[in-house]
Amino acid sequence: MTYQSTPYDQVSLMSHEPGPPSYPAQPSVAYNMSPIDASSKPHYDNTIPLSSLTRSSAPVECPACNHRGMTETDYQSGNTTRAWALGALLLTWSLCCIPYCLTSTKNVTHKCGQCGVLLATWHRSGHTEVHLYK
Ligand SMILES: [Zn+2]
Repeated sequence: MTYQSTPYDQVSLMSHEPGPPSYPAQPSVAYNMSPIDASSKPHYDNTIPLSSLTRSSAPVECPACNHRGMTETDYQSGNTTRAWALGALLLTWSLCCIPYCLTSTKNVTHKCGQCGVLLATWHRSGHTEVHLYK
């Protein structure tokens, strides 16, 4: 009686599969870069009279140094600031969150960007006071 022994191959399953390394998800933040190049100095061929200045900076010709360029604006608290602030506060409370509205209740002084002389003051009432004449 023969005993047939079947060879038994032990197949070692080499199931060595390297799992994918778990890198942390890289944040893909796309910044919306919109560079504003304000360093360039344009030539101001067209200037406006000082009496036409408003709350915003504008190209003028300085009577003192004849420099043509944008005026340097600054905000000052005028006489109407309180009244306007109170009125605006009564009209809408949302004005508290908007700094622009706060500055809009102030007078705006225009100075020469070159020599810094006070050129004009724009009053909240709409009147522009010219301090320097040619
Ligand atoms: Zn000037």
